[in-house]
Amino acid sequence: MSENASPPTELFSAAAEPELNGRRCRACGYVFFPPQSYGCEYCGAPGDQLEPKALRGAGALASFATVHLHQGKDMEAPFTVGVIVLDDGPAVRAILTQRTDEGLKIGERMRAVIVETNSEGARARELRFRREETAR
Ligand SMILES: [Zn+2]
Repeated sequence: MSENASPPTELFSAAAEPELNGRRCRACGYVFFPPQSYGCEYCGAPGDQLEPKALRGAGALASFATVHLHQGKDMEAPFTVGVIVLDDGPAVRAILTQRTDEGLKIGERMRAVIVETNSEGARARELRFRREETAR
């Protein structure tokens, strides 16, 4: 087995500008994220009809909410969870690097970012979204 082979559950690339590993249905063209191999949730085509599709980690903020209580010891509340509608179609729910009181607005541009976390001594990499820097 090659060490370079990515497991099918890998969510994103390791690049500085992360791409999300979505799937596309060959039968109907439906694009979705996160990836799964059971079958198309839109037309019901079997899993072998789903092909990898790289999605740009960019989109618009569709909704957000502040989490005040969280059972995880590694995640200090409050923090903000948002839904980002990717330019490539799917909507992704993720933790945002900005807090709600930092002036988040519906419709503003967001970018995927990979954050190193330390959960009970185990290092992990998580997909989050941050406000896109606006060029002036
Ligand atoms: Zn389909």
